[in-house]
Order: sequence, then C-alpha cells, then structure tokens
Amino acid sequence: MTQGHFPDTAGRSLDGSSDRRPQGVVVLGATGSIGTSTLDVIARHPERYRVHALSAHRSRESLYQQCLVHRPDVAVLDAAVDADWLGARLAEAGLPTEVRHGEQALAEIARASEADVVMAAIVGAAGLLPTLAAVQAGKRVLLANKEALVMSGALFMGAVEQSGAALLPIDSEHNAIFQCLPQRHRGGLERHGVTQLLLTASGGPFRGYDPERLAAVTPEQACAHPNWSMGRKISVDSATLMNKGLELIEACWLFDARPDQIQVVVHPQSVIHSMAAYSDGSVIAQLGNPDMRTPIAYGLGWPERIDAGVKPLDLFAVARLDFEPADETAFPCLRLAREAMEEGGTAPAVLNAANEVAVAAFLNGRLGFTDIARVVERVRDASEPRRADSLEAVLAADAGARALAKAGLEGRG
Ligand code: NAD
Ligand code: MG
Repeated sequence: MTQGHFPDTAGRSLDGSSDRRPQGVVVLGATGSIGTSTLDVIARHPERYRVHALSAHRSRESLYQQCLVHRPDVAVLDAAVDADWLGARLAEAGLPTEVRHGEQALAEIARASEADVVMAAIVGAAGLLPTLAAVQAGKRVLLANKEALVMSGALFMGAVEQSGAALLPIDSEHNAIFQCLPQRHRGGLERHGVTQLLLTASGGPFRGYDPERLAAVTPEQACAHPNWSMGRKISVDSATLMNKGLELIEACWLFDARPDQIQVVVHPQSVIHSMAAYSDGSVIAQLGNPDMRTPIAYGLGWPERIDAGVKPLDLFAVARLDFEPADETAFPCLRLAREAMEEGGTAPAVLNAANEVAVAAFLNGRLGFTDIARVVERVRDASEPRRADSLEAVLAADAGARALAKAGLEGRG
C-alpha cells in the first residue's frame, strides 16, 4: 500500500506568515454544503485568502450570487448555455470574471498557477479528474470529495507522493484523526505506536430501526440528518452507513492503515469526531461542535489555527457521550465497503459507482432504501475484479459498474 503522504511543517511555508501575498483559493463545488462553508471561512480572512476560481454543476443562480460577493477571476459551470447566462449577468454587474464550462475547464482551474489552495468539494466520481489535477500540480489540496480517493486510492496517493502536494483531509473524522496523530506520521501506524484508529459515526437518522421500518423510509427522512447539514447524496450515504464504509476506505489510504486497524464506533452525539489509540493505552480524541467550518478552517490555516466562526463547545449542554457498535446486519453497506477494501484493485471503484447509481435512484423515488445495499452487492458479485493501476482501469471499472447497476434497475421495471 502506498504510504500516507502529509505535509511537513518543517519544510513548508504555506501559512501566509512569511509570504504576505493572500493565498489564491479555488473552490470546486462552491455552491454545495462544503463549498458554501468554505467561502464563509475564507470571507473571515480577506488578508490571508483571495478567491481565484469557483465552480458549480448546474446551479448558475447560486454561483452568480457567490461571484458578486467573492469576485473570482474565473467561474466554471458544466453546460455552455449556463456559462453564457452567467457571463452575461456578470458583465451586466460590471464584474471581470471569466466564465468557462465543462470538465476540461475544471481541471484547468485546479492546476492554475494562481491557485495555491484547492478545495475539492464536488460530490461523487465527477470530482476525480479535477481533484487529481490539483494533486498532480502539487497544490495544497483540501480533500472533502472522498469518492475520488475511494475510487483511485493507490494512484491518488502515488500522485501526492510524486508531486509533493500537501493533502489535508476535510472529512471531519479524518481531519480529527490527522489532528490526533503525530505531525510526521508517514510509514505505517505501528511505527508511531498507534494501535487503532477509532472512526466515529452518528449512526444516521435510522439508528435502531428494524428491517420493516427501514424498507419504508423516504428520501426526505434520509436527508434529515440528526447532527449534520449536508448535501443529499452524502446524507443518504450517512443513513445507509455507506458513508462510514467510504470513510473506512478513505482512512486506509490517508493513514496507511489496514481495515482491521480501524474500528467504527457509533457515537450519536457527534461531538468526538474520531480518535487514535496508542500502544501505551492513551486514546487521543478531537472534539467540537458538528460544524464543517472547523475542519475546513484547519485545512486552510494549517499549521496555524484560524477563526472558523464556530460556536465554542459547551460540554455541560452536551452532558453525555454514548458509544455503541455499528449494526452491520441492518446496515450492510459498511460490511460491503470493508470487503471491497480487503479485495482491493478496482473493487472500491465498483462499490462507489454502484452506490452512486443506487442513491440517485432512491432520491428519485425509483428504489427502496434497503435496496441500495442489494444493488451494490449484486453489482459487486457481477463485476470482474481488476488491478487499479491506471486511471483508464479505474474509469472503466466505474463505467462498467454504473452500466450493471442501471441495467439492474431497469430490469426491476
Ligand atoms: P453538495 O451536493 O451539497 O454539493 C456538491 C457540489 O458539487 C455543488 O457545488 C455541485 O454544483 C457540484 N457538483 C455536483 N455534481 C457535479 C458534477 N457532475 N460536476 C461538477 N460539479 C458537480 O455536496 P456536499 O455535501 O457539499 O459534499 C461534497 C463532497 O464533500 C462529497 O464528496 C461529500 O462526501 C464530501 N463531504 C461532505 C460533508 C458535508 O458535511 N457536506 C462532510 C464530509 C465530506
Ligand atoms: Mg465524515
């Protein structure tokens, strides 16, 4: 397995203290939940950061509003018609922002020389190519888009190693673990006396439901997470526990861990964001209110701490912290993800692609909640495991799994 490659505080000066020029920031997926929180943090520190580019898929009105406030040099939408609309509106408003469109434009802003920091906050496999472009260009990459790493773990970490990119995990659990590990923790967990990573999970909105109740849940119920406010896809993933499964794979790559070194701990209050256990019996935890601006500010400011606009944690209001094991019988997606990581090769890319198709079908009312895991397992069983040693192999596994999942959905009528 490729060893985790993290920025080294000794060798770098990315914190703006010695270099007074504000850091140029690119936000891929600016109009989403993570993108919006990122712009909130950036706006608190105009002396440190300036927005170079923003991207969105179709939400041109939201991107227009963000451009008025943050005045980026470049804005990117998916379709030419939306880009034309945005260009005309921005010109009317007297803004010099250049508007581009399409996948190629996303990769261009991710590796632009004006970009010091790239927030990878596109949802799903669509984020892979621009995120990799930022990594290959050696940027400071704030990784929210876990699907990119899940699909292409070995290639992705190999590219980090090669380019010297500074990879900062933004997923709250991985950001917490990063904070709980020694600064230079490359080369396997054992070397640093770490015996286990404890990956916390809220358990989602359906914790404790029996199979009958689970089968009947609606997209609206699935998207109403008890502690976190997030995009619809990750909200459904949190409800099926696939999110925890994707995070387990993400943690294996980021921290050079084996799946058996990671324990999932259901902790309904979402106050402990994850922990690292050491050979001397110490367990180090990172706590905070469930607000993504904390890990985002950590990634932006590292190795310094900057204001995130987050309320201080009131432990008396929290009062208690509960822990229980995850129920892999009611929520088989967690098991499926662990098995995919153990199998290796293209198995995690297949898992991710089948899940994306199944979640979209569930959100469109075409698939039941408990059928999501069934689709993922059926696609897994019908897929040939392959080596994930090239981008082509990963993209082919992704496309093949999507086709199998869609064919299965059509077969259901
Ligand atoms: P979201 O749905 O709220 O936003 C997604 C963003 O990506 C939007 O700006 C959208 O326009 C853009 N986008 C969507 N499809 C695209 C496509 N095909 N091409 C280009 N752009 C596209 O999602 P989110 O909740 O902000 O999550 C973003 C990523 O961060 C996901 O990978 C998620 O797993 C991860 N993440 C999110 C949270 C959270 O609290 N929301 C926490 C941890 C990790
Ligand atoms: Mg998370």
